[in-house]
Amino acid sequence: MALYVQKYGGTSVGTVERIEAVAQKVKSFRDAGHQVVVVVSAMSGETNRLIGLAKSISDSPDPREMDVLVSTGEQVTIALLSMALQKIGVDARSFTGWQAGIHTDNVHMKARIEDINSDGMRAELDQGKVVIVAGFQGIDDDNNITTLGRGGSDTTGVALAAALKADECQIYTDVDGVYTTDPRVVPLARRMEKVTFEEMLEMASLGSKVLQIRSVEFAGKYKVPLRVLSSFQDGPGTLITTEENSSMENPVIAGIAFNRDEAKVTVKGVPDIPGVASRILVPVSDANIEVDMIIQNVSADGTTDFTFTVHRNDYSKALSILQRLASELGAASVSGTDDICKVSMVGVGMRSHAGVASKMFKTLADENINILAITTSEIKISVVIAEKYLELAVRALHKAFELDAEVAEEK
Ligand code: ADP
Ligand code: ASP
Ligand code: MG
Repeated sequence: MALYVQKYGGTSVGTVERIEAVAQKVKSFRDAGHQVVVVVSAMSGETNRLIGLAKSISDSPDPREMDVLVSTGEQVTIALLSMALQKIGVDARSFTGWQAGIHTDNVHMKARIEDINSDGMRAELDQGKVVIVAGFQGIDDDNNITTLGRGGSDTTGVALAAALKADECQIYTDVDGVYTTDPRVVPLARRMEKVTFEEMLEMASLGSKVLQIRSVEFAGKYKVPLRVLSSFQDGPGTLITTEENSSMENPVIAGIAFNRDEAKVTVKGVPDIPGVASRILVPVSDANIEVDMIIQNVSADGTTDFTFTVHRNDYSKALSILQRLASELGAASVSGTDDICKVSMVGVGMRSHAGVASKMFKTLADENINILAITTSEIKISVVIAEKYLELAVRALHKAFELDAEVAEEK
């Protein structure tokens, strides 16, 4: 007998029929003698619909009330799944975040799970029930409802698996595993049998939304066996593992991630004197805007150009801060654009292989794609390019690094 925590995402519970299909899947695990804790997301589109309602009332709704609002989506799904299980003779009980003992800090809309009191869930499991928990939500010390950030049900799943010492945390979604890149952009992307935590962490933080980044951090920290699988078809999925280089050489590149939510701001012709970077960036960070890449050009005539990238949501705020500061900084101009994106290649095998960057740059050059900024770390290389080249760049790199799946030859 094993204990599984299974998380089903929005598409997997998107209709009543799909919820009933999830119930059948859960039943098959129960019938095989296993204990099951199920974490569900809101039905697909529901969280966006709720956010839309709030935005139709206010541009900056109260974060506490936002959490009260958006946490309702998951409450609907736990009740429906519980009913669907009961209908087919499986004893099940639903738990909202607070009923499941999920305690978080008090940072609304991106709260972190601090601890889980799993006694209530344990008692129900011991009685043979399936426990169904609302993903994405918890409660803070003052009994306020909190939510964990978009995609947060993944993190609920992994955190529960850690707290309950589950044998495996299974993330069921609308693709049958983690691919070398988003299969919606590159049809020739390949499912990976295994991917290391380190690589998955980079891929998630660089834009691969298949797992919320915090869920990967959590799984790595608490050594939770984590697997991504399809809720619509059977298969082994992808195991996220600590193993590196077990039987065979690690591939140089595991996968390609990309992110469209990028924007850049350029301050031109600022005097190139000590302290200029901080005079530009401190007001930006004071406004709680996270800066990603920073590029300072070589100075000419004692002045320089300074460019930085931010999340697209923060673009207009960052731009207006610098436009206000322009004369104080002595800048010639302040401009920006939000039609850029970031493409990143990730792989632990990069550590031992030189030449990945040059091959990446050459591949992009051959497609006439201009690189606007570059950053690297031991296991990743990211470039910023114009958004209109995103698909072209990802497909070209996927092919050049031999990640494409082999297409069956036509007879
Ligand atoms: P869920 O609603 O189940 O949480 P998500 O939409 O959050 O599902 O995540 C699954 C989606 O992630 C897939 O439909 C796919 O388009 C996208 N995705 C992005 N990068 C990858 C990748 N490398 N491998 C698999 N899926 C990816
Ligand atoms: N329903 C939430 C969202 O759409 C959480 C999740 O699905 O993981 O972001
Ligand atoms: Mg998700």
